Amino acid sequence: MPAVAPTNLAWPFFDEGHRALVVQLEAWIADELPTLLHGSEDSLDACYACVQRLVRSLGRAGLLRCCVPQAQGGLRESFDVRSVALARETLARASGLADFALAMQGLGSAPVTLFGNAAQQAALLPGVAEGRLITAFALSEPDAGSDVAAMSATATRLPAGGWRLDGVKTWISNAGLADHYVVFARSGEAPGARGISAFMVDARTPGLDASERIPVIAPHPLGLVKLNDCRVGDDALLGEAGGGFKIAMGTLDSFRTTVGAAALGFGRRALDEALQRVHARRMFGKTLADFQMTQQKIGQMAVALDASALMVYRAGWTKDVQRVRVTREASMAKLYATEAAQKVIDDAVQLFGGLGVVQGSVVERLYREIRALRIYEGASEVLELIVGARTLQDALTPRQNA
Ligand SMILES: Cc1cc2nc3c(=O)[nH]c(=O)nc-3n(C[C@H](O)[C@H](O)[C@H](O)COP(=O)(O)OP(=O)(O)OC[C@H]3O[C@@H](n4cnc5c(N)ncnc54)[C@H](O)[C@@H]3O)c2cc1C
Repeated sequence: MPAVAPTNLAWPFFDEGHRALVVQLEAWIADELPTLLHGSEDSLDACYACVQRLVRSLGRAGLLRCCVPQAQGGLRESFDVRSVALARETLARASGLADFALAMQGLGSAPVTLFGNAAQQAALLPGVAEGRLITAFALSEPDAGSDVAAMSATATRLPAGGWRLDGVKTWISNAGLADHYVVFARSGEAPGARGISAFMVDARTPGLDASERIPVIAPHPLGLVKLNDCRVGDDALLGEAGGGFKIAMGTLDSFRTTVGAAALGFGRRALDEALQRVHARRMFGKTLADFQMTQQKIGQMAVALDASALMVYRAGWTKDVQRVRVTREASMAKLYATEAAQKVIDDAVQLFGGLGVVQGSVVERLYREIRALRIYEGASEVLELIVGARTLQDALTPRQNA
């Protein structure tokens, strides 16, 4: 039984459907997860195989239904940020790979949910919800990470119809495992951000090579997607030609909040572990928990996690219920929750002493798992700039709804 309460489901941000989802997730974590994770740290191949098992199992259990809308087999009429955030917090507290498996089904399919037409949605989303189709989101490039609009992959319209894609995408989660990629490329309708389009690309399309892997500190499927004369039909174009940047940013507006939720789950697990340890560890004739410096540290950790939860679910609720743009709220939630979780986990490692850095201990794993969250889907510095710019703008034209 965890020592720390999870996010309070009695908060007004949630309804019965959210509470039922968490109950279902916790049952799956208790009954299915331990067997599915077995051997996942033995090699990179084992890690890829584990993610595939996790997606299939989450799909069979109906837990991926939170990633797609009801018309395509999902839980709710439209994409619900709070459901995905609660799922990520709950799964991340138990396992980074389980969180990753669900998160990528959401991130890789969200451009289709939010911007695809009926035929595109029907082709992909039921398979995503059932865990039959694995998805990926291919935006970043070697020379265009934070500066997305600098991307150089090209989409060339063919005279006989369809598009030809060329270029290299990098840091692509699920590369080599995905059945389906959303690929962003420069189609040239206008300079910069206004000349980018988004395409649905089947992994088996000739000219798409996702075989090169990138090993990282907390292993998960990650690699390059190389496009070389990769041809797709007109029906692969998502939204309008030139509308790709809007699709990418619209997707991130929903997903940044859920990255904050995953960080919250990692942080809560670190606090769980730290509390057990400080009560059990004896030194100088007392327990570690008896020292005021420990109590201060635990106090700071608890405050940081609850503040993260409030920001994450405020952003989710604002998006789902008020149905307005939440660029500022989502950026704040991701920025604060990922930075806070990094500090909370570091404090937990410190409280464990030498045991905290032993390979395979939970806090050591969390220490590696949290790091990338401060970089992807908007590095912390980029998010600070977004929040700063929006706050300055709002001071000139105050919004009614935030
Ligand atoms: C584990 C992992 C998984 C990922 N998964 C995906 C995925 O599935 N799909 C995808 O498309 N991409 C993915 N990414 C890529 C990720 O989104 C990029 O790494 C991120 O956008 C940063 O780009 P970059 O790595 O090129 O760093 P750069 O853009 O080179 O930035 C380096 C650093 O510069 C600083 N910086 C950036 N901008 C500013 C600024 N304006 N002012 C001051 N400082 C600044 C920040 O500290 C930043 O970390 C993933 C990355 C990682 C690490």
